[in-house]
Amino acid sequence: MAIKLDGAALAARLKEQIRLEAASLPRPPMLAVVLAGEDPASQIYVRGKERDCAECGILSRTHRLPADVSQEELLSLASRLNHDKSVDGVLVQLPLPEGLDPRPVLHALAPEKDVDCFHPLNAGLLSLGEPRFLPCTPAGILTLLDEYNVPIRGRRCVIIGRSRLVGRPLAQLLTARDGTVTLCHSRTEDLPFLTRQADVLVCAAGRPGLVTADMVKPGAAVIDVSMNRVPGGTLTGDVDFPGVEPIAGFLTPVPGGVGPMTRACLLQNVLRAARLRQSV
Ligand code: NAP
Repeated sequence: MAIKLDGAALAARLKEQIRLEAASLPRPPMLAVVLAGEDPASQIYVRGKERDCAECGILSRTHRLPADVSQEELLSLASRLNHDKSVDGVLVQLPLPEGLDPRPVLHALAPEKDVDCFHPLNAGLLSLGEPRFLPCTPAGILTLLDEYNVPIRGRRCVIIGRSRLVGRPLAQLLTARDGTVTLCHSRTEDLPFLTRQADVLVCAAGRPGLVTADMVKPGAAVIDVSMNRVPGGTLTGDVDFPGVEPIAGFLTPVPGGVGPMTRACLLQNVLRAARLRQSV
């Protein structure tokens, strides 16, 4: 039976550490969140982030904007937050309402406040192996693997999903840790052939039931990033959990695996941004 990679428990310990470190700074770190529109999932995520900040002694301020906010208004808010000396980190909750292009907004954020690591400068530094911030979900996955002593060096790592948010930056981080990485996507041929070779298999496709027992190498570490809302409202990942559990060596639950780790890593980035700014 696979060992459960308990992201919720580890994230709780990390948050306690973050709380102590935040309290040791000259002033509490401050996260500004930009939330445009009424997307229900985004509202839940932002409330979660506000709660996380409060628990760790990090101040947070959410700028709630109507769904018909203009691109110019968003850019002007980004500029105000960049210049606001009380703000250490800025996060734009995605997706933006239809008709708005997130890229100019994300690119307009001051790189030193870009705690989601989306700015091209931060993405570039990451790809050069000199990250300023670690992208939250990939960093959360690595921290979880390290906690359970899952080896990466020399191992075959297969990632399903090549998004900018998860797959691509994770491929860079695993490569930097000497993993041998295969990055798969919707056009990949014979996905099961590849996944069966994986010592570390990460699924971030957003397709419930995509990964079945016959696709998993015995003893592999299987990381299910996806959070799919299925009819009835429950959350499920991409992995057939009951089928894969007897085969894998390690397995993340959904929820309680990668999600809490992503949130903890965001707080670490806010702390880091505050340290960087408060030390100059
Ligand atoms: P995304 O931007 O939609 O990317 C999905 C990726 O999966 C794409 O690269 C796509 O390929 C690939 N894909 C889709 N169907 C596939 C298939 N049948 N076989 C192989 N590859 C396939 O999604 P995302 O933003 O990365 O998020 C992915 C999932 O992770 C979502 O469920 C999201 O909610 C979840 N998520 C969770 C966390 C967390 O903290 N737990 C954080 C971020 C995201 P193409 O590139 O060819 O289209």
